[in-house]
Amino acid sequence: MGRLSSAFWKVLGGSRRRALSRSRAVVATAATLEEEYRELTEAELADRLAALSRRRPVDGDDGGTAGGTATFDRDDLVRFLALAREVSRRRLDMPAFDVQLLAAARMFAGDVVEMLTGEGKTLAGAIGATAFALRGRQVHVISVNDYLARRDAEWMAPLYEAFGLTVAWISATSTPRERETAYAADVTYAAVSEFGFDVLRDRLGTDPIVPAPQVALVDEADSVLVDEARVPLVLAGSTSGAAPDSIITDIVRALKPDVHYRTDEDDRNVFLTEKGAAAVEDALGGVDLYSEEHVGTTLSQVNVALHARVLLRRDVHYLVRDGRVQLINESRGRVAELQRWPDGLQAAVEAKEGLAVSDTGEVLDTMTVQALISRYPTVCGMTGTARAADEQLRTFYDLGVSIIPPNRPCIRVDEPSRVYATIADKEAAIVDYVARTHETGQPVLIGTMDVAESEHLAKLLERAGVDCVVLNAKNDAAEAAIIAEAGALGAVTVSTQMAGRGTDIRLGGSDQADHEKVKELGGLCVVGTNRHVSRRLDEQLRGRAGRQGDPGRSIFFSSLEDDLVVRHAPDARLPTATQEDGQVTGPAAERLLDHAQRVADAALLEIHSNTFRYSRLSERHRAILDERRDVLLGTDTALRELERRCPDRYRELSAEIDEEVLVSVARRITLFHLDRCWVEHLAFLSDLRESIHLHALGKQNPLDEYHRAAIPAFRDLLGEVDERAARTFEEATITAEGIDLDDAGLVRPTATWTYLVQDNPFGSELDRAFRGIRRMLDGRRGRADDED
Ligand code: ADP
Ligand code: MG
Repeated sequence: MGRLSSAFWKVLGGSRRRALSRSRAVVATAATLEEEYRELTEAELADRLAALSRRRPVDGDDGGTAGGTATFDRDDLVRFLALAREVSRRRLDMPAFDVQLLAAARMFAGDVVEMLTGEGKTLAGAIGATAFALRGRQVHVISVNDYLARRDAEWMAPLYEAFGLTVAWISATSTPRERETAYAADVTYAAVSEFGFDVLRDRLGTDPIVPAPQVALVDEADSVLVDEARVPLVLAGSTSGAAPDSIITDIVRALKPDVHYRTDEDDRNVFLTEKGAAAVEDALGGVDLYSEEHVGTTLSQVNVALHARVLLRRDVHYLVRDGRVQLINESRGRVAELQRWPDGLQAAVEAKEGLAVSDTGEVLDTMTVQALISRYPTVCGMTGTARAADEQLRTFYDLGVSIIPPNRPCIRVDEPSRVYATIADKEAAIVDYVARTHETGQPVLIGTMDVAESEHLAKLLERAGVDCVVLNAKNDAAEAAIIAEAGALGAVTVSTQMAGRGTDIRLGGSDQADHEKVKELGGLCVVGTNRHVSRRLDEQLRGRAGRQGDPGRSIFFSSLEDDLVVRHAPDARLPTATQEDGQVTGPAAERLLDHAQRVADAALLEIHSNTFRYSRLSERHRAILDERRDVLLGTDTALRELERRCPDRYRELSAEIDEEVLVSVARRITLFHLDRCWVEHLAFLSDLRESIHLHALGKQNPLDEYHRAAIPAFRDLLGEVDERAARTFEEATITAEGIDLDDAGLVRPTATWTYLVQDNPFGSELDRAFRGIRRMLDGRRGRADDED
């Protein structure tokens, strides 16, 4: 296998390099037109733009179809790139650099490009999107958040307009009308969740607003395609769910660590001990938690309450603010406004904090980010760190990576990492390092892991007489404004992981008079207070310094007590030789951190693959339902089907009621049951996953088991829809006015809302089932054996 695959990759690598060098040649040719285009009058330029735009294929031409491979011929591409440079010079006051044109060309060819932070991906992406749009293909630019979607759409609008294209943006607060208008534009900017929620809402409604997906151009592609890929987007409806009741919350509150429950090494799981299970059973009046009757209900409530109490920590995983629990997105280190935890956990945390418990809701439909992206026949993107995500991008999305060189070489100095024995030593060293750097006036940006750490560190810095700005969990716009000043003379900014991503940090901040001074001081100094779970995230932080050939400096501080080591290298022999200040000497410490990081990275990849394997089946089933829905919406199939099943009823009704009315009645009835059955199917699948893992202690592969049960269940679903529809058709009151679904007892949820399922510290639902429940059962068995 080894030889074949390495030969294979060599060939592929060769073809990638050739593709990149072809694009370079095109850009070089475009550059020869620069002088000529600069001299053009506005009218002449307009003519050239119009000439290019006119080549846009008309409807019915293959360039406009979703799967088409619309492209420019070489000469057109050369002219297009040269025009893009000239337009960006005149309309945006930033003539695109060669490397930006190269990146645009590679995105137009369907790659993810790696371009360092500050190299100007916004413009490169807009030029790429323009190319697609000129070939008649609608582009969705997937932005990091609402704020950036709007900023980039407005910033780039003059470019699009010059090419005769329309551009629009969507944010969480956009109304349905605004969304519809935005989707009609040639290029639409929005955060991934907005695109996803609209698709989910469309699937439930009768008037879809999202057009057939064509091109997705993803900003910060690794973050969306890899870090958040397995995050499910959820559409929920209002009915009450199974959150733990207050009795259980109280019982769990009384349990003692190590006696009644234990957590595993990496704190991703908590489980009852034998004593704990007995205590809960007693407190509930002698039930058997592990009996058929209680496993799926009482025991899961106890688990949820236990997770909420033990694993979810205030200020690390969530904040309590304005009487609400606000989740902190772990990968971004900031408040995730629209996110909730799944499976009653949200309510359990609210109960733990003594807050009003919110409605859990019922999952009406769900889709992972990965499934959303897979809908697009063409996907491309850009990020500062693609190389390290190469494998995932290839495996999960079949995407290639093009590395775009920087416009000016990067001269940032990356200092060797420092590793300390304890967190306290590390913190002292960080404060000392920052204070000394700050004395010179050089701006410092400190990247911490979470809100709690950032606040703690800020306190230590203040104590040492260093004024700093703490940047966390504010809204995106406010954050952007603050981070934009992180390069100002003497600034010290403490941020969480991804805070302010997408915002440019200029040396000197808004006071460009200081630009040269800060440059002389060595530019921005970035200090990482932890190694992240993946090298890619380390690189993202480093990349904040040394933009566009600026000077800059980066350094990481770690300790052997850091989460990364404790969780992912718990059995490692820790190096012991330290200096007086607690710094660990010798290369072993660094190697240990690298090792822990690789383990963490691999674990995440495994979780991702696993979610992917499980969700693929239901995504396929959902696609079948979507096709069915389209047929029902566009034809009289629903009525014909009911006529076949209930001929007498049909005859009776059609004697008095217009065919047209009956067509619409039949459609509404069938769609209602279809949507309802899907909701029930999703709930079934979720139970199935839990129970399979309860029973998967034998030899069967849980995924096979899952498929074995899920496939027939889906087949039954289609029959069930028809049967229920026939029953309604027979029994409901149907008049010349149609049917009152509410009267017929077919009530759709009164309110729907959307959320992203927050990644929680004990992993996905699956992950948890895999590990936690197995452990509990093992414990349980041990107990049974003892009793025998
Ligand atoms: P990235 O997304 O790659 O981090 P941005 O798109 O935010 O970078 O751009 C970074 C900065 O570079 C912005 O301030 C932008 O104005 C500037 N910039 C981008 N392209 C050019 C250009 N061709 N000429 C001059 N400035 C540019
Ligand atoms: Mg950007």
